[in-house]
Amino acid sequence: MKLFVSRGLVAPAIVALATLVAWAIAGTGWALAILAIGAAAAIAFHLYHLQLLSEWASGPLDGPVPVGRGSWAPTFGAIYRQVRTRAAYQRDLRHLIARFQQAAEAIPDGIVVLDKTNRIEWANPRALAQLGLDLAHDTSAPIVNLVRQPEFLRYLESGDYREPIVVVSGRDARMTLSLQLVPFSLDKKMLMSRDVTQLEELARMRRDFIANVSHELKTPLTVISGFVETMQDMELDTRQRERFLQLMLEQANNMQRLVADLLTLSTLESEHNVLIDERFAIVPLMLELSNEAKALSKGQHELSLDIGDAATVLGSRDELASAFGNLISNAIRYTPARGWIAIAWRVDTDGSGVFSVTDSGIGVAADHLPRLTERFYRVDRSRSRATGGTGLGLAIVKHVLLRHQAELEIKSEIGRGSTFAVRLPAPRVERAPPTGDPAHSEYQELTNSAAPRGTSS
Ligand code: ADP
Repeated sequence: MKLFVSRGLVAPAIVALATLVAWAIAGTGWALAILAIGAAAAIAFHLYHLQLLSEWASGPLDGPVPVGRGSWAPTFGAIYRQVRTRAAYQRDLRHLIARFQQAAEAIPDGIVVLDKTNRIEWANPRALAQLGLDLAHDTSAPIVNLVRQPEFLRYLESGDYREPIVVVSGRDARMTLSLQLVPFSLDKKMLMSRDVTQLEELARMRRDFIANVSHELKTPLTVISGFVETMQDMELDTRQRERFLQLMLEQANNMQRLVADLLTLSTLESEHNVLIDERFAIVPLMLELSNEAKALSKGQHELSLDIGDAATVLGSRDELASAFGNLISNAIRYTPARGWIAIAWRVDTDGSGVFSVTDSGIGVAADHLPRLTERFYRVDRSRSRATGGTGLGLAIVKHVLLRHQAELEIKSEIGRGSTFAVRLPAPRVERAPPTGDPAHSEYQELTNSAAPRGTSS
């Protein structure tokens, strides 16, 4: 301001001085002439700068600021500084908005910003994909034209957005979406969409599971309570009584097996049950399994055992024994008497270990194969029940194998038989047992005495 005042006074001071000098030397006429010329020059100078200012002010605010001279220099300088500060502020704001948009785009949920009339203002890529929107065409379109599920229309009109709603995606009937409106600012809304297909699938599986378990338990319970009532109401002879008690015992055993399998499954699934790896020799396990198979078959099948390549396995011996045992028990239960069952172990060239059970049983049609490991999935429910099946055996096998990064390979031909093979990954299999390992001498003893390859009983 000081500078402005002092610069502003320089020109008038010069004109005043020149006027006084002219008046003193040349008289009043010359003095007035010099005063008039000075005043005209000052007016022209200021008019010129006013013109510059008005031209700049009528253009865009971020246009170049003119350079002012004399008393106008500080004014234009101040304007220049203000414009520069504003430009920097706008730049920061643009960066902030860009960062905000990047964050909104990275959010795993869909977000659509709606104006006060529920028209689309903006949407992140996830919302575009989930709701099938295209910003190029759909900006300013009413959301109800694009999300057309009646549940959503009712939700939008209700004005009560405390809870989300769950709808089937309009684009893909296999996708389930959770939609929630969140009012913000004064009259805007945010539509949040989330893909809950997996959660819904889990909830459906849980409902089905509970229904299945209830049904599986209800059947034997009904039979048992029926027999108890009959025994209470009727006089039975000893033979009838024994038959009824035997049938009740069978049903109780069925329930016991079911509960045991359910407990095994829940233990396998428990997050707290971490797999504890141990290294064990495969040969003794194969011999144990072969003995169990003999006991189960009761001499009705021709059983063979091919121990193949000596190896040790890294994993849970109990869990793998239960999985392999389930496959053997299935082979026996689904192979009619006088059929054959071959149990084998080998180490493939890629180092993976393969345990397999092949039977000459009833086989499974190809369309059932992908579903066999689902809980309670049975090709023939009554046959499974009649042989003491719970419908959970292969589900248990699947879980054990998952924990060991192993795979189940099934080959089957209806009426001809099946092969269920477990492939253990190479890192879990060591071909020759390390020297000095107790498993090594055990293996040698067993291979010498049992000569197991191709043994049949
Ligand atoms: P289940 O207790 O019914 O045997 P699993 O889960 O062990 O239950 O097996 C599921 C279904 O797979 C069985 O009900 C049966 O239909 C079929 N299955 C399993 N193993 C065999 C096999 N070796 N031969 C023929 N069918 C089999």
